[in-house]
Amino acid sequence: MSPSDFPPSARGGSGVIDRSVVDQVRQRTDLVELVGQYMPLRRAGMNWIARCPFHEERTPSFNVNAERGFYFCFGCKASGDALKFYEQIEGVNFVEALRALAEKAGVELPETRDPERIAEDRRQRDLGERLAAACELAAAYYERCLVDAPYSELARDVLSERGVAEEVTARFRLGYAPARWDGLAEHLKAQKVSPADAELAGLLMPGRNGGWYDRFRHRLMFPVVDRAGRVVAFSGRVLPVTEDMPEGLVPEDAGKYINSPETPLYKKSELLYGLGSARTTMRQKAEAILVEGNFDVVQMHQHGFTETVAPLGTSFTEAQARLLRRFAENVVLLFDGDEAGRKATAAAYSVCAEVGLAARVGVLPAKMDPDSYLRSADPEFGLEGMTQILHGAPSLVEWLISTSRTRLRDAVPQRIAALRIIAPAIAAVRDIGERRAYISQAVHTLHLDESVVEGIVRENLRQIGRPMEFTEQKSTLPKARAGLGELFPSAGEARVMDRKAQAAIVASVLWCPQLLEVPELAELNTLVDKITWSLVAEAQREWAEGQRLDAPTLLDLAPNPADRQWLAEQLSPTEAETPELLARARAMLMGALTTLRRLHIGRVTAELKDRSFAAGVDGDHKSEAQVLNEELNMKRELALKRRVGG
Ligand SMILES: [Zn+2]
Repeated sequence: MSPSDFPPSARGGSGVIDRSVVDQVRQRTDLVELVGQYMPLRRAGMNWIARCPFHEERTPSFNVNAERGFYFCFGCKASGDALKFYEQIEGVNFVEALRALAEKAGVELPETRDPERIAEDRRQRDLGERLAAACELAAAYYERCLVDAPYSELARDVLSERGVAEEVTARFRLGYAPARWDGLAEHLKAQKVSPADAELAGLLMPGRNGGWYDRFRHRLMFPVVDRAGRVVAFSGRVLPVTEDMPEGLVPEDAGKYINSPETPLYKKSELLYGLGSARTTMRQKAEAILVEGNFDVVQMHQHGFTETVAPLGTSFTEAQARLLRRFAENVVLLFDGDEAGRKATAAAYSVCAEVGLAARVGVLPAKMDPDSYLRSADPEFGLEGMTQILHGAPSLVEWLISTSRTRLRDAVPQRIAALRIIAPAIAAVRDIGERRAYISQAVHTLHLDESVVEGIVRENLRQIGRPMEFTEQKSTLPKARAGLGELFPSAGEARVMDRKAQAAIVASVLWCPQLLEVPELAELNTLVDKITWSLVAEAQREWAEGQRLDAPTLLDLAPNPADRQWLAEQLSPTEAETPELLARARAMLMGALTTLRRLHIGRVTAELKDRSFAAGVDGDHKSEAQVLNEELNMKRELALKRRVGG
């Protein structure tokens, strides 16, 4: 959420996307209308408010300021402009958001790529659209077949055995690929879909004697939806076979699941099953649940855990973790309670650490998966048990440490070996305090000396290029409001007062922009640092130009995320601009100006003293007199200012 989130070209002006185009898209996008497409907004004073889509809350703290063109959430501090909102809510990157909003706003994005590339991109996009259309037709066809195709009762039986509700079947668009060689092939032909496209989409396969036949036959079908909500692939589950089915239609050695092959639309290692249904909840809770199988996803959603997704028959990949990270900060790994599930869980830590997903582990009883656990007749299991498992899920590192005990034989080399499995996970923990806690847990669990554990963790930290200590990024703008200090502050105090005063100035003019017209602000240039000055100068420019502030431009001037958040908060006034507020803000501004002047004079006087001391030592009396005279003038000025402005 800092200016550095924007590609340099979008910020700086040179490069692929010109700053003026970004501004144009921003200006032509009605933020209130855009936000209103995702959630109901209600007018409140000068703002519009809603329940925040980025964190879970009962009372609305999400503010949209139409005039300033930005939003701010007082709960989770999410803030930004229309582009940022689109990025966050759709889980896309800056350029994707810019393209989408430019299209909606009718802004032509300048193309600087060569014509061949553009033509190729267009060909690819057209192909993608055709393949997605074929997949959509197939999904609708399979849905219909689940209702009335011959043998479809075998698929419906599986669903009812598992207690899958009709509503959930519809939500996931579950279907049935009929027990025929050419059911879909005929249907697509009637719909004028080219068989070559259908083959490329992974739906049909070329026959030996020409022609095409169905890839999926007599299977329970799970459509796979991409981030844009399009069906791009299928996962087909095996069904019981009856004797009267055509020979060879369902090969005996076919796997339990068959999946679409990779296509121009579908890279299985980059998609997650259930994403389309899970994205909203994931975003609201900032949490995801990762299970292994398609039925686990369906069953979890049916039981209200609608933030659940699954990797598509692969181990959890970094691309999938990255995709998940667009929606959630935390993930609970809820893999099967068997050795393979344990291995998959252990393997997930580096992937999660790599993308900054905090992982916890939901531990299921042996030989159970989320689907069977939820359906279990045991009163300890089911919905309530699942809620407890998720609630009490230990962090992945804790889980690794505690389960390593089972591998522990008493011999030291084996305990060291166990430590070598855990240490990379401990090293991957970003928070230093948390990392310390895990080190001491490992010390106790493995009965090893603390120096041994620390040593091996340090080795791993070096490998990933992270120091043992971790210092947090410091804000350069102060957080506190103005407070007038002593007349002769110490150097440290002076710095704090200086920062507080600068913050007070920025805050007061953002609350009440008419204060930008106060003539005293002209002095600021010499009194404040570059960042504060650029903020005030930009605000003055905008105010002079159109009597309004453009929050996104101002936010882009923030040097780091902490400052950006602080600025966003100042830009979201909670009270209307009454004469009382104006008076308070004005007093704050003037007080801060006086402080800054005093500090400035203090600095200059100190400098002069140094110089006069140096001059005296050199025996240059003339220049000493000059220096003392200057000092006298400064002091006079200070006294005058105190009488007038203070
Ligand atoms: Zn929020």
